[in-house]
Amino acid sequence: MVNAHRITVGDAICISLHEGGGTSDLEGIKGRFPDVSESDLIAALDGQTETLGSLNCLYIDLNGTKILADVGFGIARRPDLGNVDLALQSVGVQPADIDIVYLTHFHGDHIAGLLTPEGNPTYPNARYVTSNAEWQEWIPRWEASEQEYHKQLLNMMTSLEDKFAFVDDGDEVIAGVTVVLIPGHTLGQTGLLVESNGERFIHVADLLHQTFQFAHTDWHFAFDSDGTMASKTRADMLERCATENLLAMFYHLPFPGIGHVKKDGAVYQWQAIEI
Ligand SMILES: [Zn+2]
Repeated sequence: MVNAHRITVGDAICISLHEGGGTSDLEGIKGRFPDVSESDLIAALDGQTETLGSLNCLYIDLNGTKILADVGFGIARRPDLGNVDLALQSVGVQPADIDIVYLTHFHGDHIAGLLTPEGNPTYPNARYVTSNAEWQEWIPRWEASEQEYHKQLLNMMTSLEDKFAFVDDGDEVIAGVTVVLIPGHTLGQTGLLVESNGERFIHVADLLHQTFQFAHTDWHFAFDSDGTMASKTRADMLERCATENLLAMFYHLPFPGIGHVKKDGAVYQWQAIEI
């Protein structure tokens, strides 16, 4: 199957890489949206019995710097996932070629692939960049947790800490790639705005998880750190994407997760690009 989708943004090459994905049935969706009634969910699904979800990592090559935004679960954690490196290699890029690994937030489906099954850095020549707020939320939470999985994530991140740089809203990762704070799903979640030669493209990570959230921006996800904040951020960012007609990428929408946000009255709609 096609596992990499390439677009250009001025001089930047941006490629959505398919880490993996699957379907969710009504029971699964109910579990992820516990505050929404079953009848409202069924109405929002509009006849669908399941939805397709994905994990889409973003590769950016701009002016000679190669950035990978999020690394997926990694094969060490989920043998059915961990395909991002295959997708990278299909476009001629090796893990050792990556200069910067950018992490939008610290959930396992975005970071667990940082290490190989042997425990070595998957991207041996990369430095890592993430938001200050993300590090400050998760390191203490993991330190206070008894869960083995949290201890593994804590050990992984602290073993790489020397190679981390921390950014805030509006900072540039490199010239033309700007950090955009989109808090709520996690407190320090960030997206990236790519700008080159007057063209723009925004990656908004886990701004939402299901297509029906375009029409229901206040329906928040079970794993949001702050659901109220996430809902406000979602509405604000969808408004911006629609108003500015920004080409946008979402980590969990069906691959490649790239398209435009349209507004019909008070309701947002998703218009995926044709592939
Ligand atoms: Zn996610």
